[in-house]
This record gives sequence, C-alpha cells and structure tokens, in this order.
Amino acid sequence: MALASIEAGAHAIRINPGNIGSLEKVSAIIQKAKEKNTAIRIGVNGGSLEKDLLDKYGYPTTEALVESAVRYVEFFEKEGYTNFKISMKSSDVRTTIDGYRNLSKQVDYPLHLGVTEAGPSFSGSIKSAVAFGALLADGIGDTIRVSLTADCKEEIKTAKEILKSLGLRTFGPDIIACPSCARAEIDVVELANRVEKAVSHLKTPLKIAVMGCAVNGPGEAREAHVGIAGGKKEGLLYIDGKTASKVPESDLFQTLMTQISTLQLPKNSKDKKNP
Ligand code: SF4
Repeated sequence: MALASIEAGAHAIRINPGNIGSLEKVSAIIQKAKEKNTAIRIGVNGGSLEKDLLDKYGYPTTEALVESAVRYVEFFEKEGYTNFKISMKSSDVRTTIDGYRNLSKQVDYPLHLGVTEAGPSFSGSIKSAVAFGALLADGIGDTIRVSLTADCKEEIKTAKEILKSLGLRTFGPDIIACPSCARAEIDVVELANRVEKAVSHLKTPLKIAVMGCAVNGPGEAREAHVGIAGGKKEGLLYIDGKTASKVPESDLFQTLMTQISTLQLPKNSKDKKNP
C-alpha cells in the first residue's frame, strides 16, 4: 500500500516500520519515496514495537519507544533519506511526554505528536491536551494529531483548541467565561454555551467575555473585544474596553451576537493576548 500510494502521487505517507515486516521492505519504500520526492512519517507505536525491544524492556516503555525511533532514524539516514518526521505514540500520557522529551534531545527532525487510542471524546481530549500542552509549551512538536473514539470533526475541534490555548494558532473567537458562582446575577452558563455554539463557524480571532457579575466581570469584559458583565437581571456591555450600554438579561444573547457580527478587529486596539 505504501508503494502504491507513492506511485499514485501521495505527497506524504506514514509507515510504521515495525509493521512492514523487514528492513528490506522498508528500504524499498524509502527508495521509491526518494524517487518521487515523497515525505515519510516514521511511526513508532507501543503496539508495533520490535520483538527484541519488547524482550529487552518487558513492555513498551519510554526507553523502548525512543530506542526504536532512534534505530529507524539511523536506518533512514544510512539509506540517504532525510525527508521524514517521526511520531512515537503511546496511549499513556506520561510515556508520551517523557518519550518525546527524550527523543527531542537525540534527534533534530520534525516530531509529530500523538497520544494514540486516547479514548472517547471527553477523556481523550483531556489526555491529548495534557500531553501536547506539556510538550508544545516546551517547544517540542511540529505537527499534531488528536486521536479520539468519536466523529473525526471532534478531533479537529480539540486540536484547534489546544493550539489556540497556547497562542500557537488562532482559529476564530476565543471565549472567556466565568464558571458562575453564588454572586452570578445572570445565567452565565447558559449564555456562554449559547454564544460558543453560535460563533463556532466564525474565523475572526475575536476575544469574547461572558462574565456573571460585577465583581470580576468588568475586568475580563474590558480586556475582550466584546464582553458582558452580569448585573441584577441585566448585563453591562463592553466593546473594545469601553462600557457601551446596559442590556436586560433577556436581550443579552441577541445584543452580543449583533455586536459580534458587526465588529471588525480595530486596527489600533490594544493587544488582547491571542489575537
Ligand atoms: S465573575 Fe462573578 S459570578 Fe462569575 S465566577 Fe467570578 S465572582 Fe462568580
């Protein structure tokens, strides 16, 4: 399949050399990739570790995964081929973090991050965010893939949020919302969820604040491009750091949406961190 994919014009392929069968077969793929200038992702995976490494380490440890990855890097280099990146996936978050940290000290090739078989949407997203967050914050990792037992659109959503939260990419609005508490004067949970859903298709990197009360609300709302700070069954609307108007609670959603739809990023607005 790898040979056929290269022949068919794929720009890049992923192979797990540990699954291919022999180094001769891996070599045949490398030669074909060289001929067609096709990039390769070398995949090392806890589930496809070579037998000698499993015998040596007992199970897919961090050391076993790193040794396997370095072994293939050396093999590819010996074959005169360096148009590759490496993924070294484990379903264990700690192993993933330790493994990539270790590997990044030993090789200078692009690293593709992944927690394999991370699980269903909620728990898998958290595992991926913890692992990628730790690594990306340290500057380790060049591409990522979130792997969820869910609709693949969920994987993209989670991946975008991870990159957004570290300020590495902007993908549409960033919503700052408080968790609500006894001080909340409006139903901030309902409002924030409604707004999040309604702006999910937007591309503009706006910062939107939805805050429940006048204690901590105004500060965050002022730092956003558009924000609401709840009051007694009403909210104070802020636009680009300035108080704009008082709005009854029943009109808050519509008012926010109207502002968001007309708001352009002000040229001279102060830095809102992400945008
Ligand atoms: S902003 Fe106000 S309502 Fe929201 S969590 Fe903070 S104190 Fe509570």
